[in-house]
Amino acid sequence: MTALKYLAGYPEPLQAKVREMLGQGRLGPMLAEKYPQAHAVRSDRQLYEYVQELKDRHLRQSVPLARVAYDGKLQVMKHALGTHTAVSRVQGSRLKASREIRIATVFRDAPAEFLKMIVVHELAHLKEAEHNKAFYALCTHMAADYHQLEFDLRLWLTQREQGGA
Ligand SMILES: [Zn+2]
Repeated sequence: MTALKYLAGYPEPLQAKVREMLGQGRLGPMLAEKYPQAHAVRSDRQLYEYVQELKDRHLRQSVPLARVAYDGKLQVMKHALGTHTAVSRVQGSRLKASREIRIATVFRDAPAEFLKMIVVHELAHLKEAEHNKAFYALCTHMAADYHQLEFDLRLWLTQREQGGA
């Protein structure tokens, strides 16, 4: 039986259903139909603008962003779907905290909704370090269907790794 690492925390009957869909080649087409829209956020510059725009709209009071970049070395699961680093930087005479957001390169070619979901996740970490209730409240404030998107992203990552061509 194939281990489904992106769905490890989910009930076995659900995992069995996903294995069945994978085996029948139905998972990929189902996701492609549900999420047909690609995005045009190709470069780090474009990613920065995309993140900043969402931040301005929803989290204007949060700490400034120092840097936003795609990172080819990031493993999606190992870093809890993304990573967020506090960077201390000397500005004049005082030390000012600013934040860096890295997004795994796999999201460059992901459907538009999944890029939004991961960016929302990382932005929520500007205010909440832990994955607690307040954290998920911020996520659903920025993307109302956040929980569905996160689940479907797990399906998409599973399909990408195990679904063959
Ligand atoms: Zn997180």
